[in-house]
Amino acid sequence: MTTPVPDPTASFATAQVQAGYVPGVAQNTAVVPIYQSNGYEFPSLAHARDVFALRSLGNVYSRNANPTQAVFEQRIAALEGGRAAVAVSSGQAAAAAAILALASAGDHVVAARQLYGGTVDLLSDSLGSLGIEVTYVDQDDTDAWRDAVRPSTRAFFAETITNPLATVLDIRAVADVAHAAGVPLIVDNTVASPYLVRPGEHGADIVIHSATKYIGGHGVALGGVVVDIGSFDFGADPGRWPQFTTPYPRFGDLVLWDRFGEQGLALVIYIKTRFVHDFGTTLPAWSSFQLLQGLETLDLRMQRHSASALAVARFLEQHPAVEKVWHPGLASSPWHATTQRYLPRGASSVFSFDLAGTGDADADDRRVEQVIDALRVIRLVANIGDARSMVNHPASMTHLHLTAEQLREAGISPRTIRLSIGLEDETDLIADLAQALA
Ligand SMILES: *Cc1c(COP(=O)(O)O)cnc(C)c1O
Repeated sequence: MTTPVPDPTASFATAQVQAGYVPGVAQNTAVVPIYQSNGYEFPSLAHARDVFALRSLGNVYSRNANPTQAVFEQRIAALEGGRAAVAVSSGQAAAAAAILALASAGDHVVAARQLYGGTVDLLSDSLGSLGIEVTYVDQDDTDAWRDAVRPSTRAFFAETITNPLATVLDIRAVADVAHAAGVPLIVDNTVASPYLVRPGEHGADIVIHSATKYIGGHGVALGGVVVDIGSFDFGADPGRWPQFTTPYPRFGDLVLWDRFGEQGLALVIYIKTRFVHDFGTTLPAWSSFQLLQGLETLDLRMQRHSASALAVARFLEQHPAVEKVWHPGLASSPWHATTQRYLPRGASSVFSFDLAGTGDADADDRRVEQVIDALRVIRLVANIGDARSMVNHPASMTHLHLTAEQLREAGISPRTIRLSIGLEDETDLIADLAQALA
């Protein structure tokens, strides 16, 4: 009897260090090398012709594909349990590519109104001006998702854990409504990371990330990724998805779904050959390398981030200067049951708290300013998911462009302070908050 050899992509901790890379292909480098080359040499014109016509897959030019980037893509696909992934220059580019691959002028998207502000800007303004319409719904209201569907709807879009209030999506409930409407569910899994939840296991069809945040974790490289879980059958309703089921004009009579559907590559090849190619939203080899370095410790970091954030949330919850803590891991949170169901390993480290009000708006503003300016270990930075703990004041920073009514609707008060808890000693973070609140 032979002892089975472990599959390097089967367990999360092994996959985050090894998936997608086979040493020996170049100089036997144990670590994935940075392939810093804009172009690739073809052995013959016949081969070049095949690659250009998508008859065979290969590297052409680093705007579209690069070997370091390819390892990053395969590793993320393995960690999310997806069929394939495409890396892009930022989380914004990932959201744009995922939506543009499914919807064009005259089409419609249903999105959670709790979405990240940059995604709202993208949908409402840039994609809106291209003729893609959007309806925002409260992500907890399943009927609202259903009622928003139109014949022209092409996708649902939501986040697993939202920012700044850390509400948690019932992925399965929204996926079921999307599938009943015949459209895929896109989930932005940036705040959770695939270590805390794999949305594809709960019905999401496409998962996107701002890799800038927890995936890198070091705060030195921007990046984004779109993962095709492979669960959505674009061939089942060909009239609705002509981009996959009719000849792709750039490649003669090639039909993406026929040629690449079975391999799970139709969506990622469409995104690469269309949007990354046309808009140039490339993830550079150097950034791919930096994101791969971060990925190797993703599980350990997410455990620390989640545990420290929950400890800080518990400290804040009992503090007399704090009115409310928006952390879904607290028993008092309306999303506690959803969190236990989808995030048994932890609820990540982005959450908010509201300072107690004085009844005087100006005095409240001064108090918010005093608390934030008094923090010494926790830094005032507009970012999340970094090794450093960071604070942000949504009403005057990331959510400044929202009207007072939109802020109220989103549950954000002028007294709301957002934290992204890093990897420092949790007792230092609690002590820092204690002195600032005092
Ligand atoms: C930061 C962020 C984005 C945008 O990502 P960039 O890499 O900054 O372009 C998208 N979604 C969420 C949830 C984010 O936190």
